Amino acid sequence: MDYMYSGDLAIIDLESGEVDFREFTELDDYGPGFSSCLAVFKEYEESDPVVIGSGLFTGTTVPASCLGFVLAKDSDSDRVFTVPLNLYAGVEVKFSGFSAVAIIGNASSPVYVWLHDGVADVLDASNFASSDTWNTTDLIRSEMGDRLVQVISCGPFDNSHQFPKSASINYWGSLDPGHVAASFFRKNLKAVAIRGLGMIDAADPDAFFSSSLEFLKRCKPENGFALWNEQAAKIDEWVMPLVHRYRSCYGCPMACFPFLKYREQPSVLSSEGVEEPGILLTAYHALKLLKEKGFNPKEAMGVLEACLKMGLEAIALSSVIEPDAIKASENIVETVKTIQKENRIAIAPSAMFANWYSGEENSAFWETLNRAAYTLGICPIFLIKSGIDISEFYRLSGLACQTDFDQESVDASINRLI
Ligand code: SF4
Repeated sequence: MDYMYSGDLAIIDLESGEVDFREFTELDDYGPGFSSCLAVFKEYEESDPVVIGSGLFTGTTVPASCLGFVLAKDSDSDRVFTVPLNLYAGVEVKFSGFSAVAIIGNASSPVYVWLHDGVADVLDASNFASSDTWNTTDLIRSEMGDRLVQVISCGPFDNSHQFPKSASINYWGSLDPGHVAASFFRKNLKAVAIRGLGMIDAADPDAFFSSSLEFLKRCKPENGFALWNEQAAKIDEWVMPLVHRYRSCYGCPMACFPFLKYREQPSVLSSEGVEEPGILLTAYHALKLLKEKGFNPKEAMGVLEACLKMGLEAIALSSVIEPDAIKASENIVETVKTIQKENRIAIAPSAMFANWYSGEENSAFWETLNRAAYTLGICPIFLIKSGIDISEFYRLSGLACQTDFDQESVDASINRLI
């Protein structure tokens, strides 16, 4: 494919420490985004791969074109499982200088992978293997001297694998129910850090740009969790007093993630006062559980922040923690650590695309929506809420790369592989 992607496929073998590059021919054979990366996953299936990729429009002027993804092995079924890379992580994947990356094998000691400008380094992570996700992000950014580095990481390497862990995107949650973090632990892979200044071309840049702007004009800016669904709207009202601002992912005119300040007044605009004033709320299912159990919003934020730092799967933790444990606690992180060590919970079974929107698994609608989202690189929530039919986004593919894709051709490619 001559447009929309640049760079090779990198195959990073953690066992030998070697990095190979080859032409990403799967793009031409299977089409962009999810299907070509699924083909790579299948090729390296025996080596327990973690495959990182992006969609056709990721990082372009198409609204909400923020989406990248990680494919990893479902810990129980050995099937492939997909985790979205939103916020700014997916865009950095697109500009990293690689069209896709496959990380195979297991390292003998903790390492992290640094992807930047067409270079892939495997670096020692022994000195921060026990760090939490927030410190890991700070350490890697400081080492690289760049605050825009995107860090996908897992919590402390502490041998307590009986409780589901969840990979983070920088300081915030990635919607990983446990499979990506479990893969990272198996591989001794502490983190993947990504940054790039690459460029991509469209086949017809002027028409592509003006069509993108038309899409942008047609969608109504909205914000808050209410964008997710009716259940999320109820949580939105509950945490409203703590909302400081709403944040969106790259290029999205909607902003569904509230930043909640619970250590200082939400009305305070300065970012100078309290060092860690609150959290970005990236999933509502856990918060809903905490609300139902009788936590107040500030207590719930404390629990979720501890999960984010420790890289714990928040729904699993929320299902076993009780308000009394927090009321009696002087250090929520330590309390949460103890609770996860004392409880044995398996990673929740999941379909290829875990349904983090409504929580209902195996819905045909969610499957089709995600196939489109991970092919196009456009956020599935935006695809639902924009009011624009998905087929219209597919029609941009000709302008982007001189090949027309539609749901039928995408389904045919994916169905060849599953
Ligand atoms: S709808 Fe929410 S998750 Fe989707 S791109 Fe916009 S801000 Fe990100």
